[in-house]
Amino acid sequence: MAVYLGIDIGTSGTKTLAMEESGKILASATVEYPLYSPKPGWSEQDPQDWWLATIKSVKQVLKQGKIKKEDVKGLGLSGQMHGSVFLDKNQEVIRPALLWNDQRTAAECDEIESKAGGRKKLIKLVANPALTGFTAPKILWLRNNEPRNYARTKQILLPKDYVRFRLTGEFATEVSDASGTLLLDVKKRCWSNKLLGLLEIDTDLLPQVYESEEVSGTLHSEAAKLLDLLEGTPVVGGGGDQAAGAVGNAIVKRGVISATLGTSGVVFAHSDDVEIDPEGRVHTFCHAVRGKWHVMGVVLSAGGSLQWYRNQLGEDAVREARKQKVDPYEIITRQAAEAEPGSEGLYFLPYLAGERTPHADPHARGAWVGLSLRHGRPHLIRALMEGATYAMRDCLEIIKGMNVPVNEIRVSGGGARSEFWRQMQADIYGQSVCTINAEEGPAYGVALLAAAGTGAYKDVVEACTATISVKSTTKPVAKVKRTYNKLYPMYGQLYKSLKSDYRTIQENL
Ligand code: ADP
Repeated sequence: MAVYLGIDIGTSGTKTLAMEESGKILASATVEYPLYSPKPGWSEQDPQDWWLATIKSVKQVLKQGKIKKEDVKGLGLSGQMHGSVFLDKNQEVIRPALLWNDQRTAAECDEIESKAGGRKKLIKLVANPALTGFTAPKILWLRNNEPRNYARTKQILLPKDYVRFRLTGEFATEVSDASGTLLLDVKKRCWSNKLLGLLEIDTDLLPQVYESEEVSGTLHSEAAKLLDLLEGTPVVGGGGDQAAGAVGNAIVKRGVISATLGTSGVVFAHSDDVEIDPEGRVHTFCHAVRGKWHVMGVVLSAGGSLQWYRNQLGEDAVREARKQKVDPYEIITRQAAEAEPGSEGLYFLPYLAGERTPHADPHARGAWVGLSLRHGRPHLIRALMEGATYAMRDCLEIIKGMNVPVNEIRVSGGGARSEFWRQMQADIYGQSVCTINAEEGPAYGVALLAAAGTGAYKDVVEACTATISVKSTTKPVAKVKRTYNKLYPMYGQLYKSLKSDYRTIQENL
């Protein structure tokens, strides 16, 4: 039997999964760890916690699945992107890692833009604008604020690549995660010596870059002993959590898109060429598929908007759900279904935490617009769900405008659990949406990469085709689709009308 392990170093915990060559999941386990916020806007973790959670979760999975060590033919690594681990000359961690959601680097983003010769030139070099979460601004922050620590730094690693170092002793990364550092020449799939030069960052600080399914090293004896695995077991490149999650959803062909409506929303499209939005509204990164790329739009509060409603205004639904022993979202979506599509002119703007795509505006705020005496609770909820779904459509529209075809939309995340919300997505996107038979996300994706990279499949596309298939398809209802098509443009207008007011209100607080 051939078994592949996928290890995903997430923000709340490390999830390890064991997969048979056929794609069947044998076992999975998650081990959690804390997140530290020593100052407002700071977000840090101890890399040692990731390593300990890796050991623990791998051992749990081997035990739970009764897996023999000689059957494990390969390991794949995924994880939260953009984080930064700083190591000294003895390969010890210098300070806690700064994470993807850390917000301390606004000044360094400006510094990068100016050193690169402006936003447009930066996007030309590395395909993306500087965002506070990315790795490059974190490196500059260390240099500007903790110069002694910076002087001691000999190696900088992303979260999953730190775990790779502990497993194999190699300093290595792969193209999909490296894209999120802002230091990769995304087109050529190697470090951008040009930008590194402009920022005066020594290339030797960065690990070697592999393709995602390439073997980047093998388990050394000490790690093998700790994990209860065989020395020499290959570890493939793996992928950043978004690219790895897309592999786990089989988003590995031109025209296939995923729309994940979870707390945040992500629209992810495979692309055969580097397609760059000159305004930088969507990310353009290397895909975990050899020689391919992806573009990705992010809605900060998609399902999160409905969660806010449930927590703040949904006591009646929560009570009723307890009585009926169902999920409160089921009651809430039933209430929404009482209102007509379009919510009788009521709109909701889902910018409860600012927005990333398409507006990249931290000052944007949420709103119901167009309230009248006719509106009741069903309209409030339906409009909210429509607003979150229009935001997802905004991402789709940008992607379509970038020469990336959208032939098949695969929906996932909490929002896809509801038939009502799946139908609304089909009606608002204006095309069929489908679900697939795999729901395990990034850990599954990197287990597939491990299978492909160690020879069980020709490549990751073949691995996905062999293991993942469509489970259900929801078609749009022609009349409702027409209604939403008519209403959608006004949604975009409302943001523009309110934009300057949001800012003024916050400045006057
Ligand atoms: P996360 O993104 O935090 O990992 P999920 O993918 O489970 O979490 O998404 C959670 C969101 O999905 C909730 O905030 C809610 O908006 C939505 N959701 C979850 N279950 C349902 C449901 N049964 N019906 C409608 N929406 C749901």
